[in-house]
Amino acid sequence: MQPKVGIIIHKGYNMLMTKSTIQKILIITFIIVTALILAQSIYYAKNFFDRQTNHEKVTEVLANNNRLSGVSLEDEVENINDMITKGVYDDTDLGLLYEQAGLIYNQMGEEMTYYRYLGYALYYLEQSDEKDYTVNIYLDLAALHISNHAYPAAEEMLSRARDIEPFEEISNVSIKSYAYRVLALLDADKKNFTQAIEYLNKSQGYVDSIIGSDPNVDDYTRNNQITLANIYVRQGLLDECAAILDQYSDSDITEAKKEPIYLRNFVIPYYQTRCLLALAQHPDSASVDTKTLVDDFVKLCQNSGYDKVALDTLLLMQESCQPDNIEMQKFLTIRIQNLSTLIIENQSQTYSSILNSQVNDSRLSIAKAAEIAQNTKSRTALTVLSIIITCLIILFFIIIILNSRRDGLTFLYNRRSFNYDIERIKRSMLPYSVIMLDIDNFKNINDTYGHPEGDKVLQKVGQFINAEVKANSDVRGYRYGGEEFALIISKNSYPHTMEIAETLRRNMAATTWSFAPDLVITVSLGVASGSFSEDVVKKADDNLYFSKQHGKNQIYTD
Ligand code: GH3
Ligand code: MG
Ligand code: MG
Repeated sequence: MQPKVGIIIHKGYNMLMTKSTIQKILIITFIIVTALILAQSIYYAKNFFDRQTNHEKVTEVLANNNRLSGVSLEDEVENINDMITKGVYDDTDLGLLYEQAGLIYNQMGEEMTYYRYLGYALYYLEQSDEKDYTVNIYLDLAALHISNHAYPAAEEMLSRARDIEPFEEISNVSIKSYAYRVLALLDADKKNFTQAIEYLNKSQGYVDSIIGSDPNVDDYTRNNQITLANIYVRQGLLDECAAILDQYSDSDITEAKKEPIYLRNFVIPYYQTRCLLALAQHPDSASVDTKTLVDDFVKLCQNSGYDKVALDTLLLMQESCQPDNIEMQKFLTIRIQNLSTLIIENQSQTYSSILNSQVNDSRLSIAKAAEIAQNTKSRTALTVLSIIITCLIILFFIIIILNSRRDGLTFLYNRRSFNYDIERIKRSMLPYSVIMLDIDNFKNINDTYGHPEGDKVLQKVGQFINAEVKANSDVRGYRYGGEEFALIISKNSYPHTMEIAETLRRNMAATTWSFAPDLVITVSLGVASGSFSEDVVKKADDNLYFSKQHGKNQIYTD
């Protein structure tokens, strides 16, 4: 009869428990990793769709739909700020939102906030690869400096815009035409009228090239036309100027007033030009019409943050007004005085608010730095924690993997390791031997003294085998299954195979057992040697069977 070599699994025997534990851990790990990947993918997908949806909202806000439905400037800017803080956006969209909010602040007279928001807008737009929009903001800033007659500052903004993109290379044609219009404004302000008109023509050329493809072509043309009219009046070409102004009806103006950009680019220059024209047409009188026009213009400027433009216009008018037109001179002087006082007052307020914002900014930047430091600390702590957790998981897996190769009761290597090592040693072509060991009448021991005592016997065999493993090099011991054990012996210890087998047999027979002092437990052994393709295990097994058949407590070999 063949000796039993099967693995016996029943409660209390943990031979293959580790295998299922590994499986469970692998499944749990797989589920966790899958869940993490899934969560991450969902997060990215959500982010992507959010950006997409938010992009539409941004387009809507930029198209100013809200304002047309009667929303106040305060409400609109609050709405934009709300969008900025709560949503996720592409850098371009975020930059455009800041720019739009900035324009509204400017219209509300909050100049400082306008500049701050332009700074934010530039920050995001410069990161966004959207060169054209960035150039657009620099052009806006240049236009602003031109209106303050701050030529060096305007030139600097223009050169920054050129550094990003030479004007000829701007792909957005409407921005390209704007670039040339700003150049025209600069030259017009410096009284280089011929050069200014040349730039304007170039600008209009680009506008004409996008007729039909850009819905705002009429607005761009209108802006250019009004700049031209403004140049004409200052050149003394009054009829040409009047011809342009006559093209626009009151409803055009009212509509354009609602949009900060058109207010700045069209409505304000339109009224300014009308005032200049009115005076130029009647330089020696002070008509009610002219006065009303000027007062309305000054009011409009004051209400929309363009006080300095108003003052500029009054000064220009004063310059071109006949000295003996006393009434008009007086009218203008009073308004210039009032406006100057107001501007100075506003400027000291602005100055104070700059100081305040400096103080606030310092506080905020320190708070921000502290927050960043705190975040870095927490992130470092989190990183350290994740490293520790990762190490623990790796350690855990190492233990599991090592354990999966060992038997939990005797701590010898298990049957799987045995099979693996046999295949390896076969491939090495070295000679080796196998000792198969089976406890004699073990079933009786279990039946008589109980399984816990049986386990002690198995552990004892394990200790004897381990002692041999430690004492001899190139010996490995295995629990082959149930109460069967195996050893693989090679290289230096190969010649001592029989001695090792005999030591195991003798030690076992000489052991006394605490649970039955008179009991002698023996083992039977089968030994076989060979190399490469020979079935040494089978031979050792057969020899063990022979030992059993011939009285047990003995060793049989070829
Ligand atoms: P033989 O001399 O012919 O080898 O007879 P035997 O009784 O030793 O052999 P048999 O194969 O009939 O019985 C082996 C027994 O080993 C049966 C099984 O209950 C017991 N056994 C297997 N694994 C364990 C274990 O982990 N712990 C305990 N206590 N018993 C085990
Ligand atoms: Mg057996
Ligand atoms: Mg047995």
